[in-house]
Parts: sequence; structure tokens; C-alpha cells
Amino acid sequence: MQIDVLLIGQGLAGSLLAWELLKRQFRILVVDNGLENASQVAAGLVNPVTGQRLVKQADIEILLPAALAGYRQLAEQFQQNFYVQMPMLKILRTQQERELAMRRLSQPDYLAYLSEWLPMLEAVHAPFGVLQQQQTGYLKTEALLKNLRDFLIGNSCYRQADLQYGDISVRPDLQWQDVKPRHIVFCEGHRAVANPWFGGLPFQLAKGEILGCESRQDLPERILNYGHWLIPLEARRFKTGATFDTQHTDNLPSQSAQNALLASLRTVCPLQPSISVYQHRAGIRPATLDKQPFIGTHPRHQQLHIFNGFGAKGSLAIPFYAARFADYLQQQADLPPICDIRRYDETHFLA
Ligand SMILES: Cc1cc2nc3c(=O)[nH]c(=O)nc-3n(C[C@H](O)[C@H](O)[C@H](O)COP(=O)(O)OP(=O)(O)OC[C@H]3O[C@@H](n4cnc5c(N)ncnc54)[C@H](O)[C@@H]3O)c2cc1C
Repeated sequence: MQIDVLLIGQGLAGSLLAWELLKRQFRILVVDNGLENASQVAAGLVNPVTGQRLVKQADIEILLPAALAGYRQLAEQFQQNFYVQMPMLKILRTQQERELAMRRLSQPDYLAYLSEWLPMLEAVHAPFGVLQQQQTGYLKTEALLKNLRDFLIGNSCYRQADLQYGDISVRPDLQWQDVKPRHIVFCEGHRAVANPWFGGLPFQLAKGEILGCESRQDLPERILNYGHWLIPLEARRFKTGATFDTQHTDNLPSQSAQNALLASLRTVCPLQPSISVYQHRAGIRPATLDKQPFIGTHPRHQQLHIFNGFGAKGSLAIPFYAARFADYLQQQADLPPICDIRRYDETHFLA
């Protein structure tokens, strides 16, 4: 079978890249092992201003409109909404955070993302105040991935298999099983560290855990951000997470993470009585040492590419980069230098 692009991995990266390539009339095949992946576990949060330092995400003015337009188009295609826009309440935890928040509110380039001080909320313990963040929300990653998988299956562009790298022939031409692609793009998430061509790139994997919980009380219709976060769902259910652990790379839920997330929640919602946990999941973020994606072509194998390294920001960053990378494969358009793996010298590339 002759095709243009074989994609390895149907997480958010492989799925959205496949979508962009199909829009450009590429003949593609996506291979995935069908196991639970980081994209399904993820909360899908999109948050332009993050961290204790309340710093605006680099390139947010480019990434956010691309993400919103991309998710709107997918909503039209599949006749359902995947992106939920919801303001976020940033619970300030120290006097320093409060002073920083006041400074940010006076900076014109932050005004689109930070709006106002809010009165104290009854159910939330916030002695240093609450700041409202806007242009925030979350992606329903599981629903989106399921729709895209069904779409790929319906268009004969999907094969369930656990690809073994040794089964890929690179010379004289690319081949895997009966498939003869012009290009292979690896989108394997954290498993890329075992990739014989790209595994030498400086990944910094980070395990994350998330709880699905049920409350006996009504919840604010806002995302709460207090270092960890809470996303209200329907019927008094909510998600809370996520841990960030660079020491472990298994995807097993742990009691210590559950305890830490519940303790953190109790500090801001002390009035929440007996929360019950109905779901506990773990996954591994494909984060990178320099916090930028790994996108581009192997220096010695022009048909082998990587589209990975989206760390904790997949929902925000992947739509923009998927479109750029599809343009790159179609018309040799330049990649944004910040994501291009050519920033690393040859010693980082194996095989
Ligand atoms: C707990 C947690 C919370 C998170 N919260 C957020 C958040 O709020 N907002 C946000 O933007 N991001 C969040 N993330 C990060 C987000 O999940 C990632 O940025 C994104 O999902 C990465 O997608 P991916 O496609 O690169 O990887 P993955 O989703 O891991 O997909 C890779 C796919 O490749 C497949 N694969 C790999 N190797 C092979 C092979 N050899 N053969 C066949 N198939 C293979 C895997 O099975 C998998 O399906 C979170 C992650 C975790 C773990």
C-alpha cells in the first residue's frame, strides 16, 4: 500500500496532525496500540497565564486563536462541542502572589487574560484574594480522540497495532508491514524515549495523576486554580489534579498522589464535606528539557520526522503546530525555529 504519511500514535498530537494532513489531501495511515494514553487522561486545560509567577505563555497570541479555531472546526465536523470555555479563579496563596497579581493587572499586555478582583467566595478559603482569569477553558480530550479515531477508521486511515521499531525498513525505501509511506512521523508521546532515531532528544518526562470526584455541595461554575486545579463537571462531579512527578515514569495511580491532591483541595475548600473519589488515573507527559516541542526531520533520514514534546500544554499548542507541520510536509514551509529539532546538534540523533 503506497501512502504519503504513516503516523505512529493517535494521541492528541497524532490525531490533530492526521486531521491537518487529511485537509491537505494527503494519503495517510495512523497506527496506534489502542492503550490508554496521556491525552485521554489529561484535563485538557488551556490557561494563558500560569505558575506562581503568573507568566503569560510565550506566543499565546498565536497559539490560542489557532487552538480555538481548530476546535471550532472539529465541533462543526462532528456536530459536538469539544472545547468548554470557562473562566478560572486564581486563588492567591501568599502576600507575594497578591502583590504580583496586582502588578500584572496594571500591565496592558495581561489585560486580555486577567480581569478583576473578586469578592471572597463563601466556599473557598482565600485570605489573600481571588483573581479572575479569562480566555481559559478545557478540551474534552477523550470525546475528541474517540471521534477522530472513528473518523480515521471510517476513512480506512487507522490500524491498531503496537509498532516495533525493528519492523521499519528505512532503506532503500520506507516500509512497515505492507505499507510503503513517503514519510513516517513519530507521535508516540512519552514512548519516544525508546525511539531508535529520536530517543536521544532531551525529553523530561513527567508523570501526572488526576482524580474524578463527587461532592455533596454545589460547586462554583468556574475552574479553580490553587497550584492544583478543580474543574467542575455536571451533577456535582469534578476533576482535580494534577500531580507533576519527574521521578516516576509508570502510569499507575498511587495512593500518595491521591492523598496529596485531596489535601491540597481541602486547603482551599475546607467546607467540602466527604468528597468521594470515583476515578483515579495516571499518565506520562512528553515534556522536554527546554519546554518547547520537538518537531522536524531527522538530520540523516529525510523521510523520518517527529511531532512530539508538547509537555503539559498539548491542548493549547498542538493545533497551531499541527497546521505548521502539515504545511512543512506539503510545501517545505519553514518550521517555527523555537520548535524545530534542528536546534540540537547531530549527537542528539541516534541511528
Ligand atoms: C495527568 C495529566 C494531566 C494533563 N493535563 C493537561 C492539561 O490540563 N492541559 C494540557 O494541555 N495538557 C495536559 N496534559 C498533557 C497532555 O496530555 C499532553 O501534552 C498530550 O496529551 C500529548 O499528546 P501526545 O499525542 O504527544 O501523547 P499521547 O497522548 O501519549 O499519545 C501517544 C500515542 O502513541 C501511541 N504509541 C506510542 N508508541 C507506539 C507504538 N510503538 N505503536 C503504536 N502506538 C504507539 C500511544 O499508545 C498513544 O496512544 C496532561 C497530561 C497528564 C498525564
